[in-house]
Amino acid sequence: MAQEDIFKKLIAHCKEYGFVFQSSEIYDGLGAVYDYGQNGVELKNNIKKYWWDSMVMLHENVVGLDSAIFMHPTIWKASGHVDAFNDPLIDNKDSKKRYRADVLIEEQLAKFEDKMNKEVAKAQKRFGDAFDEKQFRETNPRVLANQKKWDELHERFANALNDNDLAELKQIIIDQEIACPVSGTRNWTDVRQFNLMFGTEMGSTADGALKVYLRPETAQGIFVNYLNVQKTGRMKIPFGIAQIGKAFRNEIVARQFIFRMREFEQMEMQFFVRPGSELEWFDKWRETRMKWHRALGFGDDNYRFHEHEKLAHYANAAVDVEYKFPFGFKEVEGIHSRTDFDLSQHQEFSGKKIQYYDPELGKSYVPFVVETSIGVDRMFLQIMSASYFEEELEAANGKKDTRVVLKLPAPLAPVKLAVMPLVKKDGLPEKAREIIDDLKFDFNCQYDEKDSIGKRYRRQDAVGTPFCVTVDHQTLEDQTVTIRYRDTMQQERLPIADLKEVVSSQVNFKALFAKLK
Ligand code: ATP
Repeated sequence: MAQEDIFKKLIAHCKEYGFVFQSSEIYDGLGAVYDYGQNGVELKNNIKKYWWDSMVMLHENVVGLDSAIFMHPTIWKASGHVDAFNDPLIDNKDSKKRYRADVLIEEQLAKFEDKMNKEVAKAQKRFGDAFDEKQFRETNPRVLANQKKWDELHERFANALNDNDLAELKQIIIDQEIACPVSGTRNWTDVRQFNLMFGTEMGSTADGALKVYLRPETAQGIFVNYLNVQKTGRMKIPFGIAQIGKAFRNEIVARQFIFRMREFEQMEMQFFVRPGSELEWFDKWRETRMKWHRALGFGDDNYRFHEHEKLAHYANAAVDVEYKFPFGFKEVEGIHSRTDFDLSQHQEFSGKKIQYYDPELGKSYVPFVVETSIGVDRMFLQIMSASYFEEELEAANGKKDTRVVLKLPAPLAPVKLAVMPLVKKDGLPEKAREIIDDLKFDFNCQYDEKDSIGKRYRRQDAVGTPFCVTVDHQTLEDQTVTIRYRDTMQQERLPIADLKEVVSSQVNFKALFAKLK
């Protein structure tokens, strides 16, 4: 099945099984804003727990924070967001559709990459084990021709971004003959800058209301609390502050479901270090974060690093962790070396000294910062994309059957254990509830008695429940149940007394955390 079709199915699945709904759906929705349903909120909470505990619990020198969404408007002046938090936009005059000029060019670059990868895949098939990919890439004329096109375009693109040259961005789009996917024409407007911050007013207008912004990143809440946390927590450099919270961006293009939203949630950690040591810490955090992603077991080859074409005004190094979504490799997380830009700016704009006295060096300085920044929603989409499978099964009567299964990592699954009485009588429902009552303080359990056992299994597969337990008449006699495993569909008989241990060994976060060492 084509990757786009899989993605469409995944979106439909998210709605049908209570993971993600369009916001304000009964009013025809609101662009790029989404709500999380009964299963979505559980998965989202588990993602946040995985991140939070791996940062705050596993690192002695990282502590948490929860700062407000509204902040003093001067903060956004100091951070550069009022003047420079812009995306280059371009409209197609025929379809009236709006695009990000940089994204159009990135997609063109991805096309050249695709062509090269296809050549490699074809050759790999042909030569089998004897295939030397490096040599092939260095010598095959078709790969070399596309690599040349990629290199030239990439260089031109990076220069245009770094020079903030909007006319050149448009010229690249014209020269590359990039057409609007909707109208198919190349009838483009000029490229303009568009500020992504949402503004609103605080206080009554009669008194001269204050213009405030909905924060476009959570990081600034951490910077302006640096002194509070450092002093009250008696933190010694190097140390980090972690925060999970909502962020808002008036995104120009809102496509690809929850990949790019106007209201979303970020998990950010700012790590404060000695000036001069930031690139060493940058390397450390980039490895630590990649390990965190790979520990989920979705295949190491599906992740890669992507160096930025243009460094943000505050950064001296930046890299993205990209995942291979059904629509190509895309950013899930950014790791940035933000220098002392933010703290120095806040020192200047607030007039308050924001420094650290380093007892080992015997002097004070403005700390440098390495940031890790990941979107909860984007991570959610990554996990759903990686977990969604349609499997062909051999049914008992020899006919083909299919099942949709979410192979979510067990600790992240919304429901850990479904308990099902075989029939709705003979004391089986009561026994099933007794088991749930015993386990519900340990894991999220669900009781299900409707429809045939087969249908109930399918429902649980579709939401990613790793274990189903069936209570039958034998259970009443010998206190054993049938446990069925989601991924293998194997079943076995177990004493009820062993359930807690079997489920717990898979669903608690310990095994995941052990992989992070
Ligand atoms: P992009 O280039 O895709 O617009 P960015 O580089 O501006 O993203 P950052 O500012 O580095 O993104 O944000 C850090 C993380 O926050 C991203 O890696 C992503 O996971 C998440 N994120 C950013 N913007 C959005 C959005 N509009 N919707 C959902 N998640 C987002």
